[in-house]
Amino acid sequence: MVSERITCSGCSLLCDDIIIKSDGLYIDEVIGACLKGKERFDQITSKNRILNPQIKKDGELQKATLDEALEKVIKIIKNSSKPLLYGFSTVSCEAQLKGIHLASVINGFIDSNSTICQGKVLNTSKETGISLTTITEAINKADLLILWGANAAESIPRLLNKVLFSRGKFRMTGREIKTLIAIDPVKTASFGVMGVRDVALQIKAGKDIDLIRVLKEECCVADSIPDKGIAGIDSNDLKRLLLHLTGAENGIIFIGQGLLNSQNGSNVIKELLELVQLINVKQQKGRMSVMMLGGHYNMVGFEHVALSNYGKNQSLQFSNNLLVETSDTIVSNIEKEDFDCSIIVGTDPISHFPKHLSKKLMSKPIILIDNKQSATSYVADVIIPSCITGIESGGLVYRIDHVPLNLKKIINPPNNIFSDEEIIEKIIEKLV
Ligand code: SF4
Repeated sequence: MVSERITCSGCSLLCDDIIIKSDGLYIDEVIGACLKGKERFDQITSKNRILNPQIKKDGELQKATLDEALEKVIKIIKNSSKPLLYGFSTVSCEAQLKGIHLASVINGFIDSNSTICQGKVLNTSKETGISLTTITEAINKADLLILWGANAAESIPRLLNKVLFSRGKFRMTGREIKTLIAIDPVKTASFGVMGVRDVALQIKAGKDIDLIRVLKEECCVADSIPDKGIAGIDSNDLKRLLLHLTGAENGIIFIGQGLLNSQNGSNVIKELLELVQLINVKQQKGRMSVMMLGGHYNMVGFEHVALSNYGKNQSLQFSNNLLVETSDTIVSNIEKEDFDCSIIVGTDPISHFPKHLSKKLMSKPIILIDNKQSATSYVADVIIPSCITGIESGGLVYRIDHVPLNLKKIINPPNNIFSDEEIIEKIIEKLV
C-alpha cells in the first residue's frame, strides 16, 4: 500500500493536499478531503456510475458495445448540419481542446457551463477591467473576506478553512485579524461561521444593485449614505461595510451565483466591478480584489483553452471549419431551436436549464459523454461512459483563481473505459 499526495477534483478549489492510500488497483483511504471530495472518490463504485455504452432502441436505452455507440454517434453527427456541443467544465483542458477541435470539424457551436455561470464576470470585465487575486494571496495576506451571494461553506467546502482560518506565511496572526462579511438574502450555512468581528448582512432579494449604487456614490461623495439604510440594511451596517471596504489591507470579494443575474434591468456584475475600481482609487494603503466562485473543477480551464487557441473564451461557432463571429450563446441557440443535435460532455443540462429549454434540447438527438447517470442520461440517444478525471485519468486543469494544476491518474478505470479526451479523439478519427 503506497501513500500519495494528490489533487482533489471534487470542486474548483482543487485542493492539492489530499493523501490517498492505494495499491494501484483500488483506493483504500482518502485523507484530508471534505465530504464533497470523498463523494468524488465514492463515484468510482457508485450505483449511478455509467459503466457501459448505451443506445436508445424503441424508446429504451440498451447496453451496447463501444463500436456500436460510436457508430450511432457518427450517424447522428452526419445527419446534422447544426450540432451543439455543451459542458466541458468537468473534463481536462486536453479534452476541452479536443472538444473545440471536434466542433470545428463538424461546423458546430460549442459552449461551456461557464457561459451561464462565472464566465459572465469575465465577459463583463472586458468592459470594466478586473482586479483578481489567488488562493495563496488569500491565505497569506487577506484581512477582509466578503461572500457576496455566495454560500462557500457548502459549494466549496474547504475554502473558508483555507482562507479564513489560516495564519498565513507572513504574519503571526490569523482568524483574529480577519473579518468575514456575508451579503445574501438567505441565511446560508456560511453565516454559521460568523465571529464577533464579522458582519452578517441579510439583504432584500434582488436589491444588491441598490446597495452597490449607494456604496459607489459614497466612494465619490462622502456622507451620502441614506439615514434609512438601503436594501434592508440599516445605515450603521452600511457604514461598517464601507469602513471595511475602504480600510482593508487586502480585501477579497467572492462573487457567487446570487449576483449573476441582472437586477432591475441592470448588470449587477458591471456595477460591482466598477465599485471595486472606485474602492481601489479611494484606498490609501490596500487593495480590493474579486474571485469568482464557479463550482465545476475546470470551468476556468475552458476559458483559457478557448481564448489562448481561438481568441474567444466562450460561445464558439464554426463554419467551413473556421471560427466565425456570433453573438449567440448556448441559451439563445436552444431558445431559437437553432440546432439539430447536441453533444453533451460531463454535465446535466436537462436538470440545470429551465424546463422550456430542457424540452427543446430533448426534442433533438442527444449524445452524452459522462460517467454518472443524470436527467440527461435518461433522455440521451446514445451514451458513452468516461473516466473520472483526477482519479482514472489525468490532465491539466485550472483552479478557481486561474492557477493551472496537473491532475494525476491514480488507478485504472473499470471496463477499460476511455477518458473524455480519448473518446472525442475516436469520434474525430471516424469523421475525418
Ligand atoms: S473543497 Fe473541493 S477540492 Fe477541496 S477537498 Fe473538498 S471537494 Fe475536494
